[in-house]
Amino acid sequence: MEKIRCLIIGGGPAGYTAAVYASRSSLAPVLYEGMEPGGQLTTTTVVENYPGFKDGVDANELMNQMRAQAQRFGADIRRGTVTKADLSQRPFQITVDGEHEIEAETLIIATGATAKYLGLPSETRFRGAGVSACATCDGFFYRRKDVAVVGGGDSACEEATYLAGLCNKVYMIVRRDVFRASKAMQERVFATPNIEILWNCNTQEVLGDDTGVTGVRLVRKNGEVFDIKVDGFFLGIGHHPNAELFATWVQTDENGYIVTEGKTTKTNVEGVFAAGDVQDPKYRQAITAAASGCRAALDAERFLLEKKNQ
Ligand code: NDP
Repeated sequence: MEKIRCLIIGGGPAGYTAAVYASRSSLAPVLYEGMEPGGQLTTTTVVENYPGFKDGVDANELMNQMRAQAQRFGADIRRGTVTKADLSQRPFQITVDGEHEIEAETLIIATGATAKYLGLPSETRFRGAGVSACATCDGFFYRRKDVAVVGGGDSACEEATYLAGLCNKVYMIVRRDVFRASKAMQERVFATPNIEILWNCNTQEVLGDDTGVTGVRLVRKNGEVFDIKVDGFFLGIGHHPNAELFATWVQTDENGYIVTEGKTTKTNVEGVFAAGDVQDPKYRQAITAAASGCRAALDAERFLLEKKNQ
């Protein structure tokens, strides 16, 4: 059984930043990166809104730099997926890849969230070449062009209004004849002249060629099939927080996001902290995730200090 003072789960901006701070605080952190080192950010190309990079930075490069920065201070970063967690008492019992047993004094959950996709082969084909699940990350590449957003919830409405400020025209593809979004968000959409809502429509196929996305084939509820011309296809059908493994012990909200206490990263389980998108349905940015990773490491350090002084 391996004993660890600070175990960080998740290799995205939140996890790596937590590892930078925890290693500089001599917590000897161990970080497991999981199946997707670098996290959601690596599904995009250039990151232009991360402060400190005047000309933008390649997403993978940014993540590699964060990882290397944590390693420079001694963070032990490992490939591996946590497959079991027992948080019923401290130290917490964690199993990695079904076999490696760990006892962790503190735990930082930074497992992120996964954007939902429709599951169409054409959507997979053009991922990163016109298909995106993040308007804030990629919208800039579609300035003065026509794009489509799928979904009728707050995320889709937020994406559509954001894109409307950059793009020539935004189509919203909504599968019912009503929005799920809050009234305020709906009103923002209705008040934006360059958003056209295509009610009762489902996406049949994302169309494209070697240059990327060129359009979308839609099917209306009455069976009518038609195409629209767009350069970008944005998913706004929700995210799935990766919190199931911990949900028996850690409180989650109605959408599965881990609940943290006030401005801290404390969960309802003493010694367990949550950072990044797994606890943030609202902002979901690399910079906000990194900031909460910093807070989680500081919270873990203070927690261990308090325990020592008790
Ligand atoms: P939601 O689950 O609220 O909405 C998802 C939307 O996508 C729905 O309109 C749904 O349609 C549609 N959808 C789902 N699957 C498909 C599919 N396969 N094909 C077509 N359409 C589909 O997710 P959100 O991410 O919008 O919101 C999640 C939570 O985060 C909510 O509580 C929301 O209020 C909150 N949020 C708040 C924000 C804010 O306050 N600024 C911003 C963003 C999110 P249908 O309605 O038919 O099910």
